[in-house]
Amino acid sequence: MLIPWNELRRTSNMGLGVYATRNIPKGTITFVRDPFDMVFQSYDLISAPFVLVQEVLKLSYREPSGEFVLSWDNGKYMNHSCEANTLTTSYGFEIAVHDIAKGEEITDDYGLLNLDEPFHCLCNKPRCRRLITEPSQEDLVTWEAQIAPILATARSVPQPLEDLITWDHLSM
Ligand SMILES: [Zn+2]
Repeated sequence: MLIPWNELRRTSNMGLGVYATRNIPKGTITFVRDPFDMVFQSYDLISAPFVLVQEVLKLSYREPSGEFVLSWDNGKYMNHSCEANTLTTSYGFEIAVHDIAKGEEITDDYGLLNLDEPFHCLCNKPRCRRLITEPSQEDLVTWEAQIAPILATARSVPQPLEDLITWDHLSM
C-alpha cells in the first residue's frame, strides 16, 4: 500500500506519476507490500494472454523470489528517479530518504527492484545513470549506508502505514 497522502497526476514525460498531497518527513514509510496486492509467478504469465502480460510487466515490481507484485492502489504508478526520494529496504517496505514536499512527485529507484532487464532512464536528474541496471555490490553498500540512519529515525515521525509494518524490524 502506498502512503495515502498521494494523488495521481500526469507527468511531463513519464505518463502518470504519484504526488504528495501533504509534506512527508524523511523517515516516513511510504510503501508496504500488503495482503491485497496481487502476486503472479512466472508460470502464471506464460499461459496468460499477451496483452494482459504486457500490463502486468509494466505495472508490477519483482521480489527477489521472482514473484511479480502488482499493487492494488496508486503504488503501481510510482515512477523511477535516479535521485529518488524513497528507497526500498530489505524489510518489505519503502522509506522517504529525505523530506518530500506537498506537490512533489514521490519516486523510487527501480534499480533496487530486481529488474528483468536494463532500461533507459528519462528522469533528467543531474545524477541520472541513463541506463538502469542491477546494482553492483558497491551500489548495495552505498544503499544500505544511506538507509540505516533513516530507519533509525522512523519511530520519531508519524507513520500512516504503521498497521502494516512490524516495528521489530526497526529496532536496530
Ligand atoms: Zn535517471
